[in-house]
Amino acid sequence: MSDVRQHADDIHAQFSDHIDVDIEDVEERLTTLVDEYKVPMDEARRSVTNHYLEEAGLEREDISGGDSEAATIEDVDEPEEWIDLTAKVIELWDPRSDSVAQVGLLGDPTGTIKFTKWAKSELPALEEGGVYELRNVVTDEYQGRYSVKLNSTTVIEELDEDIEVGNDTSEVEGALVDMQRGSGLIKRCPEEDCTRVLQNGRCNEHGEVEGEFDLRIKAVVDDGIDAHEVIFDKDATEELTGLSLEEAKEMAMDALDTTIVADEIREDIVGTYYRIEGPTFGRYVLADDVEELGGPADPEELLIKARSM
Ligand SMILES: [Zn+2]
Repeated sequence: MSDVRQHADDIHAQFSDHIDVDIEDVEERLTTLVDEYKVPMDEARRSVTNHYLEEAGLEREDISGGDSEAATIEDVDEPEEWIDLTAKVIELWDPRSDSVAQVGLLGDPTGTIKFTKWAKSELPALEEGGVYELRNVVTDEYQGRYSVKLNSTTVIEELDEDIEVGNDTSEVEGALVDMQRGSGLIKRCPEEDCTRVLQNGRCNEHGEVEGEFDLRIKAVVDDGIDAHEVIFDKDATEELTGLSLEEAKEMAMDALDTTIVADEIREDIVGTYYRIEGPTFGRYVLADDVEELGGPADPEELLIKARSM
């Protein structure tokens, strides 16, 4: 069987359950793209697949990817690959859309990756902490970040074992463009194992409590392509700002206002360039190692410079 014929056969198999596709027609479309337009086979396959998806009124998730291959999370570096993963559900997040049944973070010894499970796939629910073999999931990419989608062709098998989850460190280099709410001098719930940040003196779980002061920064760092959310814990905040927790408390006491600390910090760091390294946790990078870069700090100055060139 020729190479093109093999690919045509794969595509044909994906659609044969859904619509009447003529394999000669698939082959001809592929041949035209590859031979006449010199399109690489990968791209030709994608394009022809898209053509039939449209014709059948289907979504990519509705069709099987054919042969999925066993992979680890760090292997994922391409969208639209069909793979099998053995992974642990590290956390579940609240889906932001009705079309999503579950969304969260999967981990294996090589790292972590976001997953989305479509509502219409009608798959069993994944539990936090559970370890699963997930066959036939498809990779996706959005602004340089990869995820996997569980779809109607995915087979889920719960495994009776635990697996170790590897830390993947990320490095973000760019301008700290924003500081989010809940930054600066905050109060945490003192209940054991809670540590939730209090809102107006109340813990979501334990109600009104005598909070304990802490320092942290939730920042947005823009690397020019993508915005990353970065969390600085107390130590990282003290190191970044040169402001200790004790000094921050005094500052707030003098002003009779805790928000003065966040204002002071914002003044100090927003607009500055940093290289930040640390483990990723969910959508956050936890700042472990921070270096200030001598980048252009003043946007106005940059603009003037750009105009004079
Ligand atoms: Zn609490």
